[in-house]
Amino acid sequence: DAAINRIAAGEVVERPASAVKELVENALDAGARQVSVDYADGGKTLIRVSDDGCGIAPEDLPLALSRHATSKIDGSDLLNIHTFGFRGEALPSLGAVGRLTMTSRAEGFDAAEIRVSGGQAEPVRPAAHNAGTTVTLRDLFYATPARLKFMRSDRAEAQAITDTIKRLAMAEPFVGFTLRDVSGGGEGRVTFRADPESGDLFDALHGRLARILGQEFAENALRIDATREGLHMTGYAALPTYSRGTSVAQYLFVNGRPVRDKMLYGALRAAYHDFLSRDRHPAAALFIECDPILVDVNVHPAKSEVRFRDPGLARGLIVSGLRHALAEAGH
Ligand code: ADP
Ligand code: MG
Repeated sequence: DAAINRIAAGEVVERPASAVKELVENALDAGARQVSVDYADGGKTLIRVSDDGCGIAPEDLPLALSRHATSKIDGSDLLNIHTFGFRGEALPSLGAVGRLTMTSRAEGFDAAEIRVSGGQAEPVRPAAHNAGTTVTLRDLFYATPARLKFMRSDRAEAQAITDTIKRLAMAEPFVGFTLRDVSGGGEGRVTFRADPESGDLFDALHGRLARILGQEFAENALRIDATREGLHMTGYAALPTYSRGTSVAQYLFVNGRPVRDKMLYGALRAAYHDFLSRDRHPAAALFIECDPILVDVNVHPAKSEVRFRDPGLARGLIVSGLRHALAEAGH
């Protein structure tokens, strides 16, 4: 019910960027090739995520908004997770802390729309929409003033949204992303854009990293491809000579999910330990893939921490994989 949704929502949705993350992950889970994100006032008054994914049939719209309804997992399989979503928590949570409208068209169905605010859903009604889905979230946290107080400036929240989009765009180089600031109405201003990359995964990732981290990173990046006992790491890591100053460009992914994990960051630092002075940071975008049973991504609802069954193995993979690549490059 509404109260439970509001409490749970605090766990999943800490700030506008976490709402953006959940909505874009849903779009990616739906097989989108193009994802557009509009926001106003740092996402506080408006977040709108549109995709060209599989869409939702009208009769399934109420289900998508009900707690623990997910089309992605059957409950017996919590350790074996391949999609971003699996809890069925994001949409009901967002519908509890903002005014949410979901408009969608699935193949073979007419477009339809559902609205929910303060946890109360209205009946589904006909709408107009291309194949795919648009979720509009207005007035985030209007129902939870305590949360509102903790939000930072529009600029800081917009920055967090941009960072979230860039991480997801790295994880999905074949998908196109557009981020637009529509504060004040009108067409708005495109603040980030990445067209779908082509080629094999390394080509695509290289192109995407050039787009996001800059040409200079891409030109100074070593291709990483290492395996250790069922853990596989790919990606790009910058030569020590590139790494500069205090700007931290460290992007880590586990089974396609952006993660911020102290242990993994520590391993990255350790790999470069001999080459970088203390005030300089390695730059890298690394993707660890493994059988989902070897890693628990279920630690926190926002899902940015991970717990490896064998943390030493993950650390060893990063340290030895990077040192090997650096040695081959003459370091
Ligand atoms: P989860 O992602 O954990 O399944 P959510 O609350 O985020 O839970 O979404 C609930 C359900 O709504 C999803 O399982 C999916 O079936 C449907 N859904 C949400 N967003 C989209 C989308 N953009 N396109 C298609 N289906 C969606
Ligand atoms: Mg989801």
